[in-house]
Amino acid sequence: MSSLEYVQSYVRQAAQRLNIPDRIVRLLVNPDRTVKVEVAFERDNGEVETLTGYRVQHNNARGPFKGGLRYHPTVDENEVVALAALMTWKTAIVNVPFGGGKGGIAFDPDQYSPAEVERATRKFISRIREFIGPYTDIPAPDVNTNPQVMAWVMDEYSKYYGFQPAVVTGKPVELHGSEGRLDATGRGLLYVLRAYLEKVGGDLTGQRVAIQGFGNVGSFTALRFYEAGARVVAVSDVSGGLYRADGLPVPRLIDWVQKHRLLKGCPEGDPITNERLLTLECDILVPAALGNVLTKDNAADVRARIVLEGANAPTTAEADVILQRRGVTVIPDILANAGGVTVSYFEWTQNLQQFRWPTARVHAELESVMRQALQDVWTMAERLKCDLRMAAYALAVGRVARATALRGLQ
Ligand code: NAD
Repeated sequence: MSSLEYVQSYVRQAAQRLNIPDRIVRLLVNPDRTVKVEVAFERDNGEVETLTGYRVQHNNARGPFKGGLRYHPTVDENEVVALAALMTWKTAIVNVPFGGGKGGIAFDPDQYSPAEVERATRKFISRIREFIGPYTDIPAPDVNTNPQVMAWVMDEYSKYYGFQPAVVTGKPVELHGSEGRLDATGRGLLYVLRAYLEKVGGDLTGQRVAIQGFGNVGSFTALRFYEAGARVVAVSDVSGGLYRADGLPVPRLIDWVQKHRLLKGCPEGDPITNERLLTLECDILVPAALGNVLTKDNAADVRARIVLEGANAPTTAEADVILQRRGVTVIPDILANAGGVTVSYFEWTQNLQQFRWPTARVHAELESVMRQALQDVWTMAERLKCDLRMAAYALAVGRVARATALRGLQ
């Protein structure tokens, strides 16, 4: 099954549990619009390169489409549709007034110069500009895109439509970005986990945490967990990982990556492979890189008691069943990593109001949203007597179905 098929199957199961009529469910499984464009741009050597770009708009019953832009060779229509659908459910869980969208370009930006990535970004935005906008569809960062890329998105769009900072979130703070957006997803993971541990009578202090991925989500998750007193025993990125039983010095790893780009060669721990990291003896496992890393082949070997999904769709449906049977709690992506889109919402409101929030306000409001989301999912899990993923889908599908019905089908 593909990620899209898992997501659609969770939606159907959730809808069935809530007795949502089929005529509504049919509107929730497929995207509203899929845009595929050719991104042609000039290489530094004068050659012309053509790449494929996508923007998928899944559902906007609750507000404008919202979701990241991913630059990665595996980007294809199926993956972008699945990721766009996840955004619809995620924005509903944290109850921000958005729907779900996603986009990306199928390429590895590390193989191109910054000037080439800028030209590709600008061409992509000029191709999809009629479909995005502050009240229609608002992109954000995802894998291999960052505040600089978002600044180019804003600038390119503004060339056609005048100054429009609210067309994109995750911008640099110096260019209408929000305080607290850069680490929002990692911080949100911390807030959700804390709220969960309070429910089950636990505490983060001394817990052993293994994190796959050391980009935006993984590195800030590691840092926030380290500061909160957890023991980050392993981290990894595309170049491999590091392990240290008594806990890695996370700030020093971040310094290393700032200088050397990848963890490779960092002397602060013993080398460990990405595969081994996933089955390491630890309390909390945070997949925070790509999708489909926990599968039927390794789920039986996962030693963590809690899987906290920082990445989108890291667990296949088969792995989910195995983890559940083994008593491993999975805090699902659409709840766990929703801190990013929550602070993106704060950024968007600040842009529209032309009013800046101080950092403390961003953190406090994020914590309040994430705690409420965990509570709402928890209540649904008790009501339906189901696991947290099904409860999260039920909460989200119920909210989107209700908005759809209220707006009417005409
Ligand atoms: P990023 O590009 O900043 O970082 C990705 C990290 O994953 C890098 O450290 C990279 O080296 C590593 N990686 C890539 N391929 C790998 C592989 N095969 N094995 C191990 N590690 C690998 O991206 P990000 O923004 O941190 O996103 C990571 C995940 O979190 C994605 O699934 C994304 O959709 C999800 N997510 C991101 C945000 C956000 O705000 N950026 C919000 C919610 C969810």
